[in-house]
Amino acid sequence: MNKVAVIGGGLAGCECAWSLANRGVSVTLFEMKPHVYSEAHSEEGLAELICSNSFRSNEPETGIGLLKQEMQTLGSLVMEAALATQVPAGKALAVDRNMFSAHVTEAVVRHENIALVRREVASLDDSELQDFDAVVVAAGPLASSSLAEDLIAVVGGDSLYFYDAIAPIVSRDSINLDVAFWGSRYRPEDDDYLNCPMDEGQYKAFVKALLEGEKVVPREFEKEIHFEGCLPVEAMAERGEKTLAFGPLKPVGLEDPKTGERYHAVVQLRAENRDKTAFNLVGFQTKLKYPEQKRIFRMIPGLENAEFLRLGSIHRNTYVNAPKVLENMEIKARPGVFMAGQITGVEGYLESAASGQWLGIMLAARLQGGSVEEPPQETALGALLGHLRSEAKKYQPSNVNFGLMPGLQKRMPKKMRKGAYAQRAQESFAAWLERTGMDSR
Ligand SMILES: Cc1cc2nc3c(=O)[nH]c(=O)nc-3n(C[C@H](O)[C@H](O)[C@H](O)COP(=O)(O)OP(=O)(O)OC[C@H]3O[C@@H](n4cnc5c(N)ncnc54)[C@H](O)[C@@H]3O)c2cc1C
Repeated sequence: MNKVAVIGGGLAGCECAWSLANRGVSVTLFEMKPHVYSEAHSEEGLAELICSNSFRSNEPETGIGLLKQEMQTLGSLVMEAALATQVPAGKALAVDRNMFSAHVTEAVVRHENIALVRREVASLDDSELQDFDAVVVAAGPLASSSLAEDLIAVVGGDSLYFYDAIAPIVSRDSINLDVAFWGSRYRPEDDDYLNCPMDEGQYKAFVKALLEGEKVVPREFEKEIHFEGCLPVEAMAERGEKTLAFGPLKPVGLEDPKTGERYHAVVQLRAENRDKTAFNLVGFQTKLKYPEQKRIFRMIPGLENAEFLRLGSIHRNTYVNAPKVLENMEIKARPGVFMAGQITGVEGYLESAASGQWLGIMLAARLQGGSVEEPPQETALGALLGHLRSEAKKYQPSNVNFGLMPGLQKRMPKKMRKGAYAQRAQESFAAWLERTGMDSR
């Protein structure tokens, strides 16, 4: 029997252990609790949900709804536990967090191919790890500091981040192109950016709304995380009414393409993918609450009806520059060591679990001398895995969303697009299942 060590009994680690074990691999799952707790974990159980108890939308016309279906089809333990412990939450899947964690813990402990060892693995050179055919690091966004330091030595200090500063992403279909115009600074012919112009009155109202908007209160361990270069947009606004207009919203080089007139301020949106179906708001990392982000950012001319594919945040989050340091989830500089979960730059409970599930499926095949085709990029899982390869100037974590999928070939009314993405994903996943003979072990 092949032997794999999994470091971290969270969402990704449990799901990875489960899919490996169900494919005949012997797994030792190392979990540091209850001897060591991160700043946010507090319960002994595995797969602890440290914040919300929601796995988000069940709607099939969303990336997360599709991901749920795909994970379930592939035999996800996290989905099994979530459905068994769900509480009423409208169109979302929410759970009783204690029952959820207990369900996962019991399933893992009972599995004949999984041994749970409660101790911290502080280094990849740990002598016990040397007996395994492969090691999976699934230590999460709050990986213990000794392990994180060890990872720096392996992947390099410039490829392991401790915070993420995420700007919102909007779908291109929802941007009003009668108002927003194409062009980079001093390069009106470029189509990598869309620009949303503001006059003085609009700018002042926007700055006022930013200052008054409700913010997320940082947790004790997150208080120190604001540093120059990733200041929240509202913190910049606090420095003075003109700060944004001289900073990320500076209008220089972005004159009106028709009249050449200079605007008071310009919000730049940068293409997020090759098909230019999604755009991020440059410099708009924020601690504003989610509903406030929608309300306030829709004040930006051209974004009145913006559909947000991702909302902004600033988090304590340990993650690697996956496109640079990983290949097929394996650390290039350390063959035999793989990574899964939030630490790879996926964002969210289910996204973390899904990456662990896929790694388990792929690694089991590989250890048994075979290989398995990755789900196509049109599927939710394939799109998420594609994100781990998407090179960017500043690699940022992402949840699963339609912006990670290839654009639709046909033009169609906006209200039909989500359905078209969903249908294409379902058909593509079904064809992949048939091609690969993948089952729900
Ligand atoms: C403060 C915070 C709040 C979040 N809130 C949400 C939310 O509300 N909704 C959402 O969808 N996502 C949220 N996330 C993002 C993410 O989805 C979760 O953190 C998710 O739990 C990540 O899954 P994971 O398996 O990668 O890591 P985790 O679930 O954190 O699992 C990692 C496990 O590894 C263990 N571990 C760490 N280091 C070691 C070591 N050296 N040796 C042995 N064990 C180790 C930890 O104790 C932990 O049990 C949040 C993240 C943070 C940081």
